[in-house]
Amino acid sequence: MQNKARLVIIGGGIVGCSAAYHLVQMGWRDIVVLDQSQLYQTGGSTSHAPGLVFQTNPSRMMTAFARYTVDLFNRFHTSTLPTVYPVGGIEVAYTPERWAELQRKLGFAQAYGLEAYLLSPQEVRQKIPIIDETRIHGGYYVPTDCDVIAVNGAQAWAQAAQAGGAAEFHGDIPVTDIEFETGRGRVTAVVTPKGRIETEQVLLCTNIWSPILADKVGLKLPLMAVEHQYAVTTPLPELAGAQAEVEHPILRHQDRAMYFRQHRDAYGIGSYNHAPLLVDPHDLDGVHLAERPFTPEHFAEAWEATNELLPATRGAGLTRKFNGMFTFTVDGMPIMGEAPHLKGFWVAVGVWVTHSGGVGKAIAEWMTTGDTEVDVREANINRFYDFAKTKTYIQARCYTQYDEVYDIIHPFQQMENPRRVRVSPFYPRLQELGAVFFESAGWERPQWLEANRRLLNRYRVPSRSGWEARYWSPIQGAEHLATRERVALYDLTAFAKFDVRGPGALAFLNYLAANQIDRPTGRVVYTALLTRRGGIRADLTITRTGPDSFLVLTGGATGMLDLAWLRQHAPDDGSVQITDVSSQYCAVGLWGPDARHVLQSVTPEDVSDQAFPYFTAQAISIDTVPAYALRVSYVGELGWEIYTPMEYGPRLWDVLWQAGEPFGIIAAGFGAFDSLRLEKGYRSWGADIHTEYNPLEAGLDWAVRWDKGDFLGREALLSAREAGVRRRLCCMTLDDPQAVALGKEPILSGDRVLGYVTSANYGYSVGQWIVYGYLPVEFAAPGTRVEVVYFGRRQPATVRKEPLR
Ligand code: FAD
Repeated sequence: MQNKARLVIIGGGIVGCSAAYHLVQMGWRDIVVLDQSQLYQTGGSTSHAPGLVFQTNPSRMMTAFARYTVDLFNRFHTSTLPTVYPVGGIEVAYTPERWAELQRKLGFAQAYGLEAYLLSPQEVRQKIPIIDETRIHGGYYVPTDCDVIAVNGAQAWAQAAQAGGAAEFHGDIPVTDIEFETGRGRVTAVVTPKGRIETEQVLLCTNIWSPILADKVGLKLPLMAVEHQYAVTTPLPELAGAQAEVEHPILRHQDRAMYFRQHRDAYGIGSYNHAPLLVDPHDLDGVHLAERPFTPEHFAEAWEATNELLPATRGAGLTRKFNGMFTFTVDGMPIMGEAPHLKGFWVAVGVWVTHSGGVGKAIAEWMTTGDTEVDVREANINRFYDFAKTKTYIQARCYTQYDEVYDIIHPFQQMENPRRVRVSPFYPRLQELGAVFFESAGWERPQWLEANRRLLNRYRVPSRSGWEARYWSPIQGAEHLATRERVALYDLTAFAKFDVRGPGALAFLNYLAANQIDRPTGRVVYTALLTRRGGIRADLTITRTGPDSFLVLTGGATGMLDLAWLRQHAPDDGSVQITDVSSQYCAVGLWGPDARHVLQSVTPEDVSDQAFPYFTAQAISIDTVPAYALRVSYVGELGWEIYTPMEYGPRLWDVLWQAGEPFGIIAAGFGAFDSLRLEKGYRSWGADIHTEYNPLEAGLDWAVRWDKGDFLGREALLSAREAGVRRRLCCMTLDDPQAVALGKEPILSGDRVLGYVTSANYGYSVGQWIVYGYLPVEFAAPGTRVEVVYFGRRQPATVRKEPLR
C-alpha cells in the first residue's frame, strides 16, 4: 500500500466503487480505495442487497440518479460478470387509494422522462403468473426497472477504475482515524493498522459505519443503521424448471410494506412490515458484517401477506433469512458533499443501490468541478440545521423514515414527531388565533389561522374535496384576499439572516451575486447567486447596512445551504466575516394596501413612499421596539419586512396588532403567502429555480448586471445567452375551474411531454389555478395551449403573460 495519494476513498461498497469509477472517468489519478473487509463481498449492505431497482420517485433528483444507475449497470453487463436482469418492475395496488397513488406515480414518471404504464390485474398476472390478480386493482409497470447483482456491479466499476492504474483497491484495511489540521481546516492523512496514507482528499463511503469516522473529525451525520428483513422461500412447484435466475418483473406490494423478486425456482421477500429496528452506528465499531440475526416475530405478518398475494408460496418454507442493515437518514435522502468545516473531507452515504451510479457521478462532478449536472439540494450535506444532528431528532426521524418508506405521502403531509423544535416569539399569539402549524426547518409556522374562519363570510373561496383538500383550508383563500384588500401580519422569523462584513465584504458579495450589490447604504437588492455553470444556486436579498456591512436574507428551508455557499467562497484572508444571526432576530411581514397606515401610526419616522421607497431599508422605532425595516414584499403588496431582536418580538406583534385593528388587520399563514407570491410570479428556489436553470431561462435576467464586472457564473451565462434560450419558465392557468395541480405534474402537448409543474396553487384574486413550469421556447408564447395531467386526468391549460396580478 502506498503512503501518499491524491484521494483516499473509504468503503468499497457500491457507492465507493461508483465514485472511484466516475472520478477516474473525470481524469483523477492516484486514488486509493480501502475497505475494512475483503473485496467485493465485503459484508456491507451491498453484499446483502437483493438488487431491486425501482426508478420512480417523487424527487426528480432521485429519479435521475436511478435512471442513470440503470443505464450504467446495463453498460457494464457481461456474460462473465453479469450485473443486470432486465425484467421490469411492477408495483401493485391493494386499495383504491394506492391505485390513485399509482396514477400520480405515472405522472412523476412522465414528468421526469421515464417510460411507464398502468396495467390491469390480468396484465399483471400475465407478467407475474404466481400473483392472485383478484386481490389487486392493477399495477404500475416500468419496463426498464430491473434487478441487479450489486456486488458484481461494484466489482465491474472498480475494475474499470483500476484499468490503467488510476486507482488501487485494497481489502482488509480498516481506516481507524483521519488526521487533519485544525488551523487550515484541511484533511492531511488517513490512518490504518497498516500505516498512514498522506492525502488532502478523503471520500467517506462507509454507509452504516459512516458516523464512526465522521465523528472523529467533528462531523455529525444525521443517519442511523436500520435492520431490514429479507428471506427466500424454499422452491415453489409453480416455478420448477425456471430457466433464468430472474424472469418475473420485480414486485412491490407497498400496502403491506413489502417487495419481492424471483430467485430462479424460489421467491425472495423483503419486508418493512415490522417496527423499525434502529441500530446506533457507534455500536458497529469493530463489526464488519451488516447483518443481525433474523427475528421471526417481525416476519409473521409479512409471511401472511406473501401467502395472500402469491398463493404459490403457501406451504413453502423459508431458507435464507436475515436482518441486513442499511442506512436511513433523517429525511430519507442521501448525504453528499464536502464537510462544511473541513476542506477535503467528502461524504457520499445514505445511498441505495438504486441510486449508486447517479450518486457516484454527482459526487465525482462535485469534487472535480465544484458543481453537479443534477441539482443536489435534497442530498447536500449542508442542508441540516444543528437540531437535525441531535440524537433525539435522528432517532425519531430515522424511525419514521423506515416506518413510512412505502406509505402514500401527501406533498403537504406534516411530520408528527419531533415538533415544536423551534418557535418564534409570536408563537403564543398565533396559538391564541388558532394557528394550524406546518413545520419548516424545525420552525412552527402558521399555515392558516382558525380565527380567520369568520372571513369566509366576506370572501368567496372555492371549495375542494379529496386529495387537494388535504392539509388545506378555505381560510387560506380568505387570508390571501384579506392581504390584498387590507393588511396582514406574517411571521417571518424562520427566514435565515446572515451578517456579512469587513473590508472585503462588498467585493466578495459582488462577485457571488449576479445583480449589482455596490449600491448606497440602505438599498435592498434582490439577486441570484450563480454556480460556475450559470445555474441558480440561491436567490435572496442583500441589504447594504453600512459601507462594509450587509444583511443577507434568505428562506429558512435553504438557509444552511446558502450559508455554506457563502462561507465556502469567502476569502480566507480575514477580510470578510460571515455571522449567522438567524437566531438573534425575529421578523414579521406587514403587508397589504393599509400597511403604511398601520406602520405610520406607531413610528415617528416618515414611512411615506418618498421617505421610504421600495427596495430600501431603514432602522426605525416602532413604539419602544428598535427595528430594522425593509420595504420589500414577497406577496406583491405594499409593506415591510420588520426585524427586531427576539426579545422585542411580543411587543412588536402587540403594537402592530393594536395599530392594525382599525384597518381589520389579520395574522395570515404560509398557505396564503404561497398563493399570493404565485399570482405575482415570484420564483421559489428549490421549485421554480435551482442550479439546473439559469436566470435567462427563469425570467430573472432583469436581475443580472452584465456590465458590473466579473461575477461567478458570468461566463457560462454569457455563453448561454449567445447560444440562445431553449426553454423558459412559463406561467399557465388551468382552463377548467374544476381542474387542479399541486406540483410535479407533467405538462403535455398532445403526447409530447414538454416539462413538469414546478409550482402550483390557486390564485384566489385571479380566480384560477396557476401553474408554473419550463416549456420549450416554441411553446412559451402567451395563448399557447398545453395540458397538465393530474392523477391521469388531462386538463387543458393556457400559457399566460405574467404576472397575473
Ligand atoms: P456498503 O455496501 O455497506 O459499503 C460500505 C463499505 O464500507 C463496506 O464494504 C464496509 O466494509 C466499508 N467500511 C466501513 N467502515 C470502514 C472503515 N473504517 N474502513 C474501511 N472500510 C470501511 N437497495 C436497493 O437499491 N435495492 C434493494 O433491493 C435493496 N435491498 C436491500 C436489502 C437489504 C436486506 C439491505 C440490507 C439493503 C438493501 N438495499 C437495497 C440497500 C443497499 O444495499 C445499500 O443502501 C447500499 O448497498 C449501500 O451501499 P454503500 O456502498 O453505501 O454501503
